Amino acid sequence: MTPLFPALTDAPADRPALRFGERSLTYAQLAAAAGALTDRLGGSTRVAVWATPTMETAVAVVAALLAGVPAVPLNPKSGGKELGHILSDSAPGLVLAAPDDQLPGPLDGLARVDVDVHATGPVPGDHADEADPALIVYTSGTTGPPKGAVIPRRAIAATLDALADAWQWTGDDVLVHGLPLFHVHGLVLGTLGPLRRGGSVRHLGRFSTQGVARELNTGATMLFGVPTMYHRIAEAVTSDPELVKALTGARLLVSGSAALPVHDHGRIATATGRRVIERYGMTETLMNTSVRADGEARPGTVGVPLPGVELRLVEEDGSEVTAYDGETVGEIQVRGPNLFTEYLNRPDATAAAFTADGWFRTGDMAVRDPDGYVRIVGRKATDLIKSGGYKIGAGEIENALLEHPGVREAAVTGEPDPDLGERIVAWIVPADPQAPPALAELADHVAQRLAPHKRPRVVHHLDALPRNDMGKIMKRALAHD
Ligand code: ATP
Ligand code: MG
Repeated sequence: MTPLFPALTDAPADRPALRFGERSLTYAQLAAAAGALTDRLGGSTRVAVWATPTMETAVAVVAALLAGVPAVPLNPKSGGKELGHILSDSAPGLVLAAPDDQLPGPLDGLARVDVDVHATGPVPGDHADEADPALIVYTSGTTGPPKGAVIPRRAIAATLDALADAWQWTGDDVLVHGLPLFHVHGLVLGTLGPLRRGGSVRHLGRFSTQGVARELNTGATMLFGVPTMYHRIAEAVTSDPELVKALTGARLLVSGSAALPVHDHGRIATATGRRVIERYGMTETLMNTSVRADGEARPGTVGVPLPGVELRLVEEDGSEVTAYDGETVGEIQVRGPNLFTEYLNRPDATAAAFTADGWFRTGDMAVRDPDGYVRIVGRKATDLIKSGGYKIGAGEIENALLEHPGVREAAVTGEPDPDLGERIVAWIVPADPQAPPALAELADHVAQRLAPHKRPRVVHHLDALPRNDMGKIMKRALAHD
């Protein structure tokens, strides 16, 4: 296989590669630091990386990839129980960390290697096979305990090259990044992506709209974010001319990891004239679809299958949805070089995730527009409400609720109902906690925009929605409140 990061050896020595806050590395410095670290990984079958949003994490992962040793990024904010589960499941031989990181109890027994980003060593030849495991990334745990997805090198190369095609992504691009480094979005797309192209990353450490404005106004070209970040941007554009200027001048604004509410999409477009493009992926599949850079970014859609990705929609009875009618819902199934190989130590879950003919069942439900654009309706497990003989997607009701001026955040679930089968429940964070909108008002608001059977029957008011570290709404936690 060709090297994952040709620029490590080919780029001009002073070409910027990574910047985290005040610290930066050129390609030559990154190659030297990663090269030095590879020497210390020899003999390990797997290494854990204490994945703080720092230079050390990026160097550690690049070194592991060069050494052909699978890396397991750990979320530094995980509780002891989750860390214990991931460590016993993945059984790493070493943990890589920054010299000043304090590692918590569950890592006590593990040999530790401090990452020195100024060390120098030769870059090893990159001889790994394309089927070799490169990363073991734990899923976000939105629907159950996180599972370790074994991601081969082939999948990383394939997904990054497909995105380069869809986004016209080149080595001239400079990415602004404010995401954590222990999931696919921030690690594979946000860190390895620019390095594969020979471009550069500027990581904000901690996301802020001011940081985004500063970087985009000083040479950065692209922004990758999750919907909670774009929500903050949508709130800030009304009063921050620097941010408006930054977004207007950006080459590409990309959202993913969860659905971007239509309301926020619209507010950003109104203030800046720019549309955020959405892409859809998973830990197990890396990226599946995206709006293309030269395509139309339509609110509520995640675009078209990426080059090399086969995508089909399958109904409950196993038949394939052939209509491109924007209405017929099926489960998204995908096939292609972007797929993971297995869930670590979970042959049962791996077998259940694939059809007999090798398609991966995403568990996400969608419809397709006449021009092939995919619209995600929601997850099969939590977002499809069966009420009064209808199958209703939570997402469109959430989008409608968010258009009500009294609603700041919204989530919709179903709960058992003797008449309807399930009834629609809205969980609302009111814009003004002193004057939360009443059920009747919200029900009317939804019924007028969508259809009467889509109106919520119950409303709960909350101070905040339970979200994980990617800003995804944890509907399991809601339903148990
Ligand atoms: P777990 O599998 O542990 O329950 P998770 O599915 O949230 O957690 P990830 O692999 O990080 O873990 O997330 C993938 C899921 O995120 C997809 O299956 C899909 O439901 C959702 N998703 C990603 N991008 C989008 C998007 N643009 N629009 C809507 N949903 C998205
Ligand atoms: Mg999942």
